[in-house]
Amino acid sequence: MNPEDVELTIEQKELLYLISRLTDHHNCPDTWVKETPLQALMFHAIRKGLFNDYDYAPISSSFLGQGRKFVNISKEGEDDLGDLRELGLLETIRLSSTKYDYITGYRPTTESAKQLSELPNEIKSSIDTLFDCPECNEPAFNLVIDVGSSSFFMKCKSCSYNEDIPLVEPEDVSYSTKAYFFKSLGKHRTIGEDNK
Ligand SMILES: [Zn+2]
Repeated sequence: MNPEDVELTIEQKELLYLISRLTDHHNCPDTWVKETPLQALMFHAIRKGLFNDYDYAPISSSFLGQGRKFVNISKEGEDDLGDLRELGLLETIRLSSTKYDYITGYRPTTESAKQLSELPNEIKSSIDTLFDCPECNEPAFNLVIDVGSSSFFMKCKSCSYNEDIPLVEPEDVSYSTKAYFFKSLGKHRTIGEDNK
């Protein structure tokens, strides 16, 4: 089927528009949006009531070259990224970095231009509101990533208001659970050996 004529779901339209906004040459110097910032914004959008059909869950994932962490990822969102790619509306690139492993970058294909131009205004404006500062209403609310502390937040360039995005689950919770598990397992084995 011609990618121009496919009927997309509301969520797929929201996702395509979000990616087009993030890779728009007029607003943004980057041609590709990397998967981690995209996941952060998808998670943020779900928490704001967008992507109605999406859910999220902490998934152990290789994270910005810092080993594995529990990151809140939307399975439905990942599926739609794959679907949009298969439909020829998104293209991907593997970007290498000196500091991190390979990461995937996304951008809309030229074939997506017709789909994007025909998007309903409500879909565009609901995604646009993500970038409006809740404090001063300026469209200057953008994602900031602090890699060192694995923290993600939206920050207003105009008034400096910021809002946390809890994409990465606190490490101490999963760590203490794991440590307790291995401790009891070790104890059990020692008892077993003593009985021999
Ligand atoms: Zn502001």
